Amino acid sequence: MATSKTTNTYNRQNWEDADFPILCQTCLGDNPYIRMTKEKYGKECKICSRPFTVFRWCPGARMRFKKTEVCQTCSKLKNVCQTCLLDLEYGLPIQVRDAALKLKDDLPKSDVNKEYYIQNMERELQRSDSGVLTNKLNEPNDLLMRLARTAPYYKRNRPHVCSFWVKGECRRGEECPYRHEKPTDPEDPLADQNIKDRYYGINDPVADKLLKRAAAMPALPPPEDKTITTLYIGNLGNLTEQDIRDHFYQYGEIRSVSLVAKQQCAFVQYTTRAAAETAAEKTFNKLILGGRRLTIKWGRSQGRAGPSINPSLDAYEPVPGLPGTLPELSNNFFNLEPGHIPLPNMPPPPSLIVPPMFGPPPMPPFFFNPPQISAYVPTAASSSTVTGEGTVGAPKTTVHYPSQDPARLGATQLHADRQE
Ligand SMILES: [Zn+2]
Ligand SMILES: [Zn+2]
Ligand SMILES: [Zn+2]
Repeated sequence: MATSKTTNTYNRQNWEDADFPILCQTCLGDNPYIRMTKEKYGKECKICSRPFTVFRWCPGARMRFKKTEVCQTCSKLKNVCQTCLLDLEYGLPIQVRDAALKLKDDLPKSDVNKEYYIQNMERELQRSDSGVLTNKLNEPNDLLMRLARTAPYYKRNRPHVCSFWVKGECRRGEECPYRHEKPTDPEDPLADQNIKDRYYGINDPVADKLLKRAAAMPALPPPEDKTITTLYIGNLGNLTEQDIRDHFYQYGEIRSVSLVAKQQCAFVQYTTRAAAETAAEKTFNKLILGGRRLTIKWGRSQGRAGPSINPSLDAYEPVPGLPGTLPELSNNFFNLEPGHIPLPNMPPPPSLIVPPMFGPPPMPPFFFNPPQISAYVPTAASSSTVTGEGTVGAPKTTVHYPSQDPARLGATQLHADRQE
């Protein structure tokens, strides 16, 4: 039921004329100097069926031509791209977004009502640019943040797969503008999308898939080692220690906050495990400070040997230098004699210094959790207290071996890294 430009004029003033399309990054493509053609009242909107201005462009080399599919009013009503109908803010299907924000749309689906509604809404939109939807969209949302695309996905603009080639019948060879590639699984629900369903946010196979994925996403389980009360906070940007403190104090008493500016991360240590667990639960994947989504992980355990280190340190104080007095190491992978422990020239493996590993221990430390590391941590300025409880309280312990000296060899480097 095409609306002819010449015969159907009764409602012409409601036809839509636009100077620029409303598009998402992906549909626009990666070329900043894109060329577009514009056709006034070129087609009818696939949702409200009013004629609107159609834009056509090629979103990059070897991509297929795209055009706007729905009118700007329909696009604004849902805050979606005129072409792909994905949410402009998160790049997600409407169904996913509305489920996450618990939005209910009252858009009538019958033709007459729809026309009336759209016209009213259009007037509404002209009056104020920010509707209820925009307000809702500005609230940070855990689910949306987790699912959102953070970068444009240009692959989506590729030509479709050549159906002739699939049957082995394409004679165009190199010239063929379609993709000569094995089609994705025909069962793939993504291959079959209905634009109206997508717009109304119902029966959207992509949305189903994403929501299932979200449900399967991991939480942040508290580590077994109950002595860990430290959380790693990453992606800080320019946030200050005070910003961190201001946010995290609400979950319980904080023992220390240490900011590692160079790594843009911080460690927040609580006085109680319960507080740390609350903080982890309330912030994991949903904390936005200063417009940044922060990464939350649990601080790492100092190793199973952790608690036994302190008593042992005390134990061998009176007889320095005796190999036998060193603590039994549970992670002595090289089967070395206890006396061989210091490997002074070996730089610490990156996993021991780079904070992001403070989550689940990726693998056992490459070399032993040497007692000397824990021993000097307190001296490494309280500003980088990254250790578990056991070692933090340790006083400046007497140095028994040259390698235990924080100012020496490998130890120096470790020391320096921690300080940064
Ligand atoms: Zn429309
Ligand atoms: Zn788009
Ligand atoms: Zn072909």
